[in-house]
Amino acid sequence: MPAPVTITHLGGVGEVGRNCTAIEYKGRVIVIDFGLMFPDSSMPGVDVILPDDRYLLDHADSIDGLIITHAHEDHIGGVTHFLAKFETELYGSALTMGVAGHKVSEGRLDERTWLHTVADGDTVKVGPFDVEFLPITHSVPGSNCIVVHSPQGVIVHTGDFKIDETPVDGRVTDLNRLRELSANPGVRLLMADSTNADLPGSSVSETEIGATLRDLFPGYRGRRVIASCFASHLHRVQQIADIAIAEGRTLFLVGRSMLNNVRIARDLGMLKIPERSLEPIDKINDYEPGQVCVICTGSQGEPQAVLARLAAGDHRDFSVGESDVVLLSSHPIPGNERSVFAVVNALVGRGAEVVHSGQVKVHTSGHAKRDELKVLHDAVSPEYFVPIEGELRMLRRHADLAIEQGLDADHAIVVSDGSQVVLDDNGVRLANQLPHRYRYVHGSGDLLDADVLADRRAMAEGVVLATVTVNKSASRVLAGPTVVSKGWATDDELDKLVPALEAELSRVVGAVLSGDKAGFKEIERVLRRTTGRFVSHKTRRRPPIMALVQIAD
Ligand SMILES: [Zn+2]
Repeated sequence: MPAPVTITHLGGVGEVGRNCTAIEYKGRVIVIDFGLMFPDSSMPGVDVILPDDRYLLDHADSIDGLIITHAHEDHIGGVTHFLAKFETELYGSALTMGVAGHKVSEGRLDERTWLHTVADGDTVKVGPFDVEFLPITHSVPGSNCIVVHSPQGVIVHTGDFKIDETPVDGRVTDLNRLRELSANPGVRLLMADSTNADLPGSSVSETEIGATLRDLFPGYRGRRVIASCFASHLHRVQQIADIAIAEGRTLFLVGRSMLNNVRIARDLGMLKIPERSLEPIDKINDYEPGQVCVICTGSQGEPQAVLARLAAGDHRDFSVGESDVVLLSSHPIPGNERSVFAVVNALVGRGAEVVHSGQVKVHTSGHAKRDELKVLHDAVSPEYFVPIEGELRMLRRHADLAIEQGLDADHAIVVSDGSQVVLDDNGVRLANQLPHRYRYVHGSGDLLDADVLADRRAMAEGVVLATVTVNKSASRVLAGPTVVSKGWATDDELDKLVPALEAELSRVVGAVLSGDKAGFKEIERVLRRTTGRFVSHKTRRRPPIMALVQIAD
């Protein structure tokens, strides 16, 4: 009778991003992925959001390894935050460990980190588990499906995946091994990517995108081509590079993450671009437009990335203008549409022709659609299924798909962040729900709590501060009351409002001092209340009001 195995979901079930799953046996823990999520406009000043690591902190001395499925930020992006707290070993494919190693060096964590590169099909012992790494196709090379051989049976975690039968590097998903495991000893539990569980059909193969791009390029002869895609999408970079070079163009790579990823992949021999075809961006103006192909970051409209800079006309080395072609070889991540199209509009405003996935097939999803998910479920045919990596609506649709494929309805378990799923001799069940919160990170890596964030949102209407200086016995006003504000009203409005408010405050504070309730607390209370009423009555706005009583001799 083996002890139970417990799986704790620390992020990525209920949202797209910050993926993290912990698997525990007899108190020993392995972690799969520690990704980040980018904030939306309701989170001012937040840089990134991480998985909730409180469960891991409770097991800090018993973490045997962090396994990274692939080199996307929503799976690997939190690795330095993880390693700063937990001294442990990292496992992943060559490219994944290349990207992890770069982050580890940047975070100066080399001394306390051990990176293990695992080849396709290999099994390594991590803590109490044998962990097998299978090749799986996705939009970054070297993605792995993780098979955990546990005392409670085989657990399959797909990571992100699609089923691309003709990937650029020929490295196809190892469905045969999954079928083999399914037949013997059988798969106890499958956890699989749900991102596209709502979408019918199959995603287009990456090589088909190459064919579309190959058809497009001759139409741009004599013009500069600026192609933007995810820096991690190295197969896309390879295809664009191959086509551009065949057209006699020289490549200019721009953007920090693009340069880093290309360097790592070229060092590993996974990306083949001859040195003679590459030039630094400050040489771009030495070339005729028809000899140039820029490959850059910023396809999601990120404000600091190259494309947004070009759109704003403030890139140091070159600018976009008439006769240039900008190719957005990407699709906006849900939530990014506005910023992407703001960039597109600005580029069009500069006279460029912008080609994007809404017009021609210059992008394909890296996530399995429903027909591909069926192929996976058919190959694995698990005893139990937990959909992961997605918002609740995607998880539910994926669970329903598994049931349609023949799984017992009570064997498809929809979880949320903080859920603990237990595998024991009686079966697999949702056993516990831990409290869960987003870990907001801002500035130099410090954590931010939800109350501070709520204050920041409240300050969207500005802030008003009323202050007064009184003597030690709170019996006499020495200076003020004075009102200062930011973001509440225009200068012209303030010229009228502030003197009137200060006069009103002077009157109410005077009344407090001459009454029998005088005291610092009471003065502060009337300052705040009077200011709040005045601001709301005169301007119908509700900025946060601060009151401050200063004491002097
Ligand atoms: Zn991914």
